[in-house]
Amino acid sequence: MINETLSMSQIIDGISEGLCVCHKCEEYPYIKFTVWNQRMVEITGYTIEEINEKGWVQVLSPTATDEQKQKVNNLIHMIKKGEHRIEEEWNIMRKNGEERYIILSTSLVTNKDDIEHILVLVRDITKQKHMEEELKEINYRFATLFEVSPDAVFMHDGEKIIFANSAAVKLLGAEKVSDLIQSDFFRFVHTYYHELVKRRIVQVKEEKEALSCIQEKFIKLNGDIIDVEVSGVPIIYGGNRYSLIFVRDITERVKTELELRKSRKKFRDLFNNISDSIFIYRILEGNKCSTFIEANNAACNRYGYTREELYKLTPFDIDSVKDLDTVNRITNEINEKGRTIFQTVHVTKFGESIPVEISSMPFDMDGERVILSIARDITERIKQEKSLRESEERHRSLIEMLPYAVFIRNDEKLLYANKLGLGFLGTDDEEEVVNRSISEFLVPHPDYESKSNENMRFISTNGYLPLSEEKYIRQKDNKILDFETVAQKFNYKGEDAVIFVVNDISKRKENEELQRKMEEKTKLLNQAKEYEKLRTEFFANISHELRTPINVILSALQLCNLKVDSVGSGEGIDKLKRYIAIMKQNCYRLIRLINNLIDVTKIDSGYIHMNLNNYNIVSIVEEITLSVAEYIENKGISLIFDTDVEEKIIACDPEKIERIVLNLISNAVKFTAPGGEILVTMSDKGSSISISVKDTGIGIPKEKQKYIFERFIQVDKSLTRAREGSGIGLSLVKSMVELHKGNIKVNSKYGRGSEFIVELPVTLLDNNKVVNNKNRRNIQGNIEKISVEFSDIYF
Ligand code: ADP
Repeated sequence: MINETLSMSQIIDGISEGLCVCHKCEEYPYIKFTVWNQRMVEITGYTIEEINEKGWVQVLSPTATDEQKQKVNNLIHMIKKGEHRIEEEWNIMRKNGEERYIILSTSLVTNKDDIEHILVLVRDITKQKHMEEELKEINYRFATLFEVSPDAVFMHDGEKIIFANSAAVKLLGAEKVSDLIQSDFFRFVHTYYHELVKRRIVQVKEEKEALSCIQEKFIKLNGDIIDVEVSGVPIIYGGNRYSLIFVRDITERVKTELELRKSRKKFRDLFNNISDSIFIYRILEGNKCSTFIEANNAACNRYGYTREELYKLTPFDIDSVKDLDTVNRITNEINEKGRTIFQTVHVTKFGESIPVEISSMPFDMDGERVILSIARDITERIKQEKSLRESEERHRSLIEMLPYAVFIRNDEKLLYANKLGLGFLGTDDEEEVVNRSISEFLVPHPDYESKSNENMRFISTNGYLPLSEEKYIRQKDNKILDFETVAQKFNYKGEDAVIFVVNDISKRKENEELQRKMEEKTKLLNQAKEYEKLRTEFFANISHELRTPINVILSALQLCNLKVDSVGSGEGIDKLKRYIAIMKQNCYRLIRLINNLIDVTKIDSGYIHMNLNNYNIVSIVEEITLSVAEYIENKGISLIFDTDVEEKIIACDPEKIERIVLNLISNAVKFTAPGGEILVTMSDKGSSISISVKDTGIGIPKEKQKYIFERFIQVDKSLTRAREGSGIGLSLVKSMVELHKGNIKVNSKYGRGSEFIVELPVTLLDNNKVVNNKNRRNIQGNIEKISVEFSDIYF
């Protein structure tokens, strides 16, 4: 029941919906409203009067097309035809120009007078409409966002995919979005992950929770398996609940991570298995080193610390040098050069010192710049280096001691020469020659030049040179050096070189040359000897031949003398006698000369015959001396014989002893002026006997004394005329003394006189037979001998 206190119009105005009633009329605007409640005024902005004055369509739909106007007519028409109620969405323009969306709910009513009216209920849906449009806009934005998303986006209803973006198409290897829509999402999930994914999707959908990122594997349409990262959010779309799933292809990343993991593992394995100690630390402000942040197994083992203990130490703590300046310098070097290598001594936990070579460099560890130091224990290396140095020194001193020159050179310069080698180059200063070209000191001799080039080629092809002879000229003094060389390619202090071992064979070459000359000379000598033999033979023959005519002359002269003697005397006769005497004396001189020449020749050729027997030498010497006494005294010179022994038997050739004594006495006579004295003395020396012939003559100058026994020597050429002689006498005397194994010497003072002393050894022939000298005495023979030996002396 309507409250009687409220009028109808109050009720109508109180309705929250717009309400109006109209009917058709004949005049403009053809539809007239009878009811137009307050809500209608609010919705349209027009009063009933304004509407009725201008008409619904003109006021509310001024821009309505004919079609829209027709729609309104149709509406009325339809209602009239019996449609009870028609709802239609419409849009109107409010009085203030705003656009409003309304729903017209139209029905036909008949009033008490049976007049048909149209009741229109108007619902303002502008707000709802705006919201719908906004939602559409949001949807569009979402769609765009999904489309541009680099991740694959799937909308999933629990079973099927109902949305997928193009990244999803690409991810799964489909051709277009429609290939995926309505597909079973799990078709693309690796079976291993089915349960997990299902559970998570339900969780997202049912429990409205966002799905945190998980890693799983998807199978592409072509069967390839890819690694993906999946996250999800619940979403309400069109009133339904869905899961929005974001999938990112992380195959590459997983691969890289795997590689990274592998390489990290490799690094760690390497780090821990490497035999050198490795330490990692940071450089702090002011170049200070941090404590170690990493150390490998080798470091722990070698230094005797646990890792934890090492992590409390700095590089400074394990270094024995502990010099801040050095640490600063090293740190600066790492910063500037990126790497530094230096040697130091580390100390272990137990105080053991280890010589180490440190190689430090910056290193990127998990994005942080740290210093990686590798400490290599060089104890062994130092030992080896020391022993290498020692062995090098040994080799060097060995090379220095070698009796050969040793050179080490490369193509351009001399790298080493031992002492002898330096001498070959003409110096004793290594500095002077090392690193200079060897050709500055030695140049190949022109005779050897092509051989030298050939040798160098041989070395470079074969790596060695067999023993070969070389000839060089030393630049310093132009001396020619003959070498004998071997060479071998050789690594000297890390560079290719050749070692030459050289023997100076200049002396040997000289000797060879000398020997060659000697042989030549010997040949010449032999030839000369041969010639000499012929000559000697010829000479012996010719001498005999010469003696025969002289003997004939001498015999003829003897006969002449007899004849002249028988004639008597007279001036002419005396002259004749003197001429005959001169001729005789000169015959004797010729005989003496020939005899001497024959003897010299015989002695020289070794054909002299020794007629040895045991004789009393005293009587031989005495007899021959006394036999010339008369001659000598005629010259006004006294001759004295004296002996301290009466008999001395020795093996001798009396002929030769007589010639020795006669020769010495005739010389004494020749060089002693009248009034002088000649003393012949003999003295027994036990194992020898000495015979001395001493005069008071002119003497022999000291410097000449050593020559007088040489052949053809005469002390004073100028005296030759006065004192005849051939200079053979003393040499023959000496030879004959020596044939008796004795010796002869002279004591003389120039101007005072001379003494010749012959010393003969006492030897005896085995037969013990002593021959009496008297047995062989032949007066005529003696006179003859004396005449011959004294033929140089003019009485
Ligand atoms: P020659 O046959 O010419 O005498 P010798 O060989 O007998 O040659 O002597 C050599 C030289 O020695 C003599 O020419 C002489 O000058 C010197 N001479 C030898 N005997 C004596 C001497 N008793 N007094 C001085 N001079 C002597």
